[in-house]
Amino acid sequence: MPPTMKLSIVIPVYNERATIERIVAAVQDAPLDMDKEIILVDDCSSDGSGAVLKSLAEGSPNIRAFFHVVNLGKGAALRTGFAKATGDVVIVQDADLEYDPREYARLVSPIVEGKADVVYGSRFLGSDSKRVLYFWHYMGNKLLTFLSNCMTNLNLTDMETCYKVFRSEVIQSIKIRENRFGFEPEITAKVARLRCRVYEVGISYSGRTYEEGKKIGWKDGLRAVWCILKYNLAKDPLPPVRRSLPADKNETMQSARF
Ligand code: UDP
Ligand code: MG
Repeated sequence: MPPTMKLSIVIPVYNERATIERIVAAVQDAPLDMDKEIILVDDCSSDGSGAVLKSLAEGSPNIRAFFHVVNLGKGAALRTGFAKATGDVVIVQDADLEYDPREYARLVSPIVEGKADVVYGSRFLGSDSKRVLYFWHYMGNKLLTFLSNCMTNLNLTDMETCYKVFRSEVIQSIKIRENRFGFEPEITAKVARLRCRVYEVGISYSGRTYEEGKKIGWKDGLRAVWCILKYNLAKDPLPPVRRSLPADKNETMQSARF
């Protein structure tokens, strides 16, 4: 019997005291044929989330918590979390309740089956239920995905989705520069440059309002446009990443340049 694979769930947390315990419980309960490791990163919350994270980590052997001393943003929290991940597969989980951990099994399966290096959960695909919310957010999302696709030549439907799943070797080989929400276009550009095998899976979405704690704003949209241009045109060298195909078919991904 092959050893059980492990999924690392990285949760960035900034002032999420209202939901953090519920989301961690939902992650623990999510049905999955893999071991789970939960990595909580407190991005210098001021609402007491830090103390909750500490007690969650003390209460469960598969939870670890890390703490930023200044608020840096989601990208920075993920950078911290990815570096600590020890699983075979890594997924990003926001600390609010917009995305449902019960979808993990479907999200990881293209990677577990050896078909994919990266999977994006799309809020615009499939028949799962989606909360009807801001029209201009939807248009903004579509525009950013369109611009990103123009540059990467990937045919994504939801570039900005939280649910991004990576083979850990892939995500740990990529240097993340963006501290805030620019992470999403940056990582998409880099995944495309690495010629990763990308899959999409339709997901449900229970979006929250600003009154309910949403933090992304129009400035993040502008920054995203800038990041789409910057990370698709820049020339940082990329590390070689090995594809985990069957042993005889292993090949080294091309070490493309940005
Ligand atoms: N977040 C963070 N640092 C920040 C802002 C947000 O770690 O400075 C976390 C936040 O707690 C959440 C995730 O990043 O887990 C996404 O934030 P939010 O839900 O506000 O973004 P949106 O849903 O609008 O993309
Ligand atoms: Mg959110």
